[in-house]
Amino acid sequence: MDFPRPPDDGITPLGIPGTLECPLCRLPLELAWAGAAQVLLCRRCRGILIPMASFSRAITYLRSTASDPPVAPPPMNREDLHRHIACPRCGRQMDVHPYGGPGNIVIDNCPHCRLNWLDSGEFFRVVRAPGKDRRRARE
Ligand SMILES: [Zn+2]
Ligand SMILES: [Zn+2]
Repeated sequence: MDFPRPPDDGITPLGIPGTLECPLCRLPLELAWAGAAQVLLCRRCRGILIPMASFSRAITYLRSTASDPPVAPPPMNREDLHRHIACPRCGRQMDVHPYGGPGNIVIDNCPHCRLNWLDSGEFFRVVRAPGKDRRRARE
């Protein structure tokens, strides 16, 4: 499991272009399905835009119903804390902070639009990270 980008990162594009652009690539984001939530996906960098409420709901659901073994996440990339991107919806600079949940990810969010931006692979890194809230195999 050392692939930098697994062939299937769990995000399925739905082939429907949205109206917002990737804050990094400036390409149109497409509607996509991330296991339990609709998101907007950049096909080039595989980053996703997801409403904050959907994000927490989907993470709670996917972790509590997980049947695959947990995967210990790599350490947080602290350089990500110094990157600033513009909200694809309102154009304001997004807040950047370490995600309070599992996965050691840095999250960008727009408090005005209540949107999160996650880089490639980060969504399922959170889903797969070990933790008490993750379903355990029955004994
Ligand atoms: Zn992109
Ligand atoms: Zn915004």
